[in-house]
Amino acid sequence: MTQILGHEAVLASLRQAAAQQRLAHAYLFAGPDGVGKRLVAGWFAQLLNCTAAEALRPCGQCVACEKTARRIHPDLFWLEAAEAPTVKIEQVRAIIERLGLRPYEGHQAVAIIHPAEALTEDAANALLKTLEEPRGEAVVILVTTDAGRCLPTLVSRCRLVRFGALAASLIARRLVETCAAPEAAARELARLAEGSLGRALALAQSGALARCRASVEQWRNTAILLDDRQALREALLHLIWWTREQLVRRAQGGDDPAPLGVLLEELLALDEAAERYVNPRLVTALVHTRLQASGVFNLLPVTQP
Ligand SMILES: [Zn+2]
Repeated sequence: MTQILGHEAVLASLRQAAAQQRLAHAYLFAGPDGVGKRLVAGWFAQLLNCTAAEALRPCGQCVACEKTARRIHPDLFWLEAAEAPTVKIEQVRAIIERLGLRPYEGHQAVAIIHPAEALTEDAANALLKTLEEPRGEAVVILVTTDAGRCLPTLVSRCRLVRFGALAASLIARRLVETCAAPEAAARELARLAEGSLGRALALAQSGALARCRASVEQWRNTAILLDDRQALREALLHLIWWTREQLVRRAQGGDDPAPLGVLLEELLALDEAAERYVNPRLVTALVHTRLQASGVFNLLPVTQP
């Protein structure tokens, strides 16, 4: 299983709950995309069914750990709504039925549902009923980026586990280790990814850094005039990343970041306008106007060491 990055406090508290047999029937893992919530859910499932001595759990080596990692453990129910947009009541019922029975092989049946907001209202209510009258030793882990989009009564039945953004330094180190990224590039990608390892990896693989620089360069030379909404939003996103990055640099260097803060707000508003189907050419022209007015490119070179 891929090594978990960060979240030491979360791991420690889950480990402690397991050791003291004070597990909740249901957990809600909530936090931004790409920070490792599912990885921790898999780790927790391993912890609960690992056959090694307690201090070594999860060992990652025993048959139970291996089956859990491969998602073929008979007491693990992993429901991913990545392909189907919703989790339906039939799927939840099938899990509920199994959760009420004794575990086949392990100590504990574990169900992982991702993303929790994909549960239809019927499905969420069926699950809620089970959590109100738990049978057997089962643990349900719901994973979400936004607890606010889940059924509130369901949320209230879960022990909330919050996942924060990862430190840029941790992400950068992982990029150097796994993608053999040069350190300076790794640091830049890590900052662009805003605490999400998943996003950083995607950026590293897509050559996004070079594209980002190229499109900021185009904005500077007013070479961008876009008819295509998708292309505009991508170019705008690059500009927003870059502006945010410069803002942080200025603040760290003791310079007044306020002018860039204003520009950033304007760019975010324009991105929203593009999303709301305002004519892309108009948005592009407005971005150019704002950039000129802010004088941002006189202030800073596009590429910095
Ligand atoms: Zn094990």
